[in-house]
Amino acid sequence: MWSNMRISWLWLTVLLLLGGHRSATPSHAQAPTPIREFVIGYSAQGRPIEAVQVGTGPRKLVIVGNTHGAPEANTYELTRQLIDYYRSHPQAVPDAVRLYLIPTINPDGVALGWRFDAFGVDLNRNMNTNLDECSENDWNRSVFGAYGIVSDTGGAFPDSQLESRVIRNFLLDASGVIFIHSNAGLVFPAFCEHAPSIRMAELYAAAAEYEYQRYWERYFITGGMHDWAASLGIAAIIPELVSPVDPEYGQNLRGIQAVLAAYAEVLPLPADQVVNGQPVPAVIWRYWRAHGGDAVFGLPLEPPRQTALGIQQTFARARLEYRPSLTDTLFVVQPVPVQADLTSDGSISAAFGTLPIGIPADGLASPMISDGPLFFEQSGYSLGGGFQQFWTQNGGMDVFGVPRSTEQTARTADGQLRTVQFFERAIFAYDADTEQVQLEPVGWQVLLREQVRAPTTAPQIR
Ligand SMILES: [Zn+2]
Repeated sequence: MWSNMRISWLWLTVLLLLGGHRSATPSHAQAPTPIREFVIGYSAQGRPIEAVQVGTGPRKLVIVGNTHGAPEANTYELTRQLIDYYRSHPQAVPDAVRLYLIPTINPDGVALGWRFDAFGVDLNRNMNTNLDECSENDWNRSVFGAYGIVSDTGGAFPDSQLESRVIRNFLLDASGVIFIHSNAGLVFPAFCEHAPSIRMAELYAAAAEYEYQRYWERYFITGGMHDWAASLGIAAIIPELVSPVDPEYGQNLRGIQAVLAAYAEVLPLPADQVVNGQPVPAVIWRYWRAHGGDAVFGLPLEPPRQTALGIQQTFARARLEYRPSLTDTLFVVQPVPVQADLTSDGSISAAFGTLPIGIPADGLASPMISDGPLFFEQSGYSLGGGFQQFWTQNGGMDVFGVPRSTEQTARTADGQLRTVQFFERAIFAYDADTEQVQLEPVGWQVLLREQVRAPTTAPQIR
């Protein structure tokens, strides 16, 4: 790909030299639209999930083919043909947009010759769709699948599958997403009310000459990728091809071009939010909400802080960092590491670390679902019981990192003696009364300490 880009630059230089008279206006002096091929992540069986990017505009539109593996192979073929088109017609993508085409999010399903992922989970039933106002689409292990057949293929819990986590993290800064399926022959938007999703589906259906339906009427889809996306403000639709075999390329190209032409209406820029009276940058808000929100990280306690490398914001139980240089990786937002010790009276002394966050060498970690305790060679500690369940269900390695201690008794921030365990990016504490695991309020404690030390510049703690 890099060689292609160099060739493009070379050609631009040649054209400018040959046709100097054409460079009189600024529009002719623009750089060619970059085309970039890259791997966004890997499937559970280690197959690459590939993407092609065309354009560099602020509004990210993602086309995802082949969620449902081998039976919907024509959507893989369609996305490949669309890549060929946009490679040779990059100017078809408006300056305001950057377009990503992902031929398959489920390469294991293709290789295994079925609809599911490597563990028999339906990836379009596994997302955390409990975030919106509609309960009908909430995640459920028992789901309706193709032909309305009911089966327990929703996964062990929301976002339990590696591929679900790949698309979750890749879409955090997206404006819109189109999940192409086959073969019901219609286009429908996310189930819960979301005007840009509805408008996108109408435009796509009209241009592609497919039937538009406001709702998928055959049964309720729970844990759907489109419903998850719209709950975060990402315009999301599903076009279902008519044929089980034909990619229907021309029709779908017209559908996508109609969406691109209406970008101002159907590809809204990710919106900053206000939570607990604090402004929260859009991408940090989406990460926070998609990873458990208040229940896991607590509420934001101060406005975002600009750092040399990005933006940090302190929540009651974590400090989250947005790193623009990691855009289009699966790690654009991460919790900042936590350093913790026990003081002589058994209470916890914690601070946020200064270690740089980045991309782990192994990429996004596979969710570790196991009946027995997990042992981590990296640190020499085990993880079991309720802590293991909380760790696994709320993001595991990528959110909390490995354990840095055994389970032990400590005095937590509320003055109680509790069972706790330290992790790279959090401290877990068990409340025997509620039988709940919670993160220690490290963010709250750190801000409180700053307030004591520097009362004139203290953030307000609510
Ligand atoms: Zn499908």
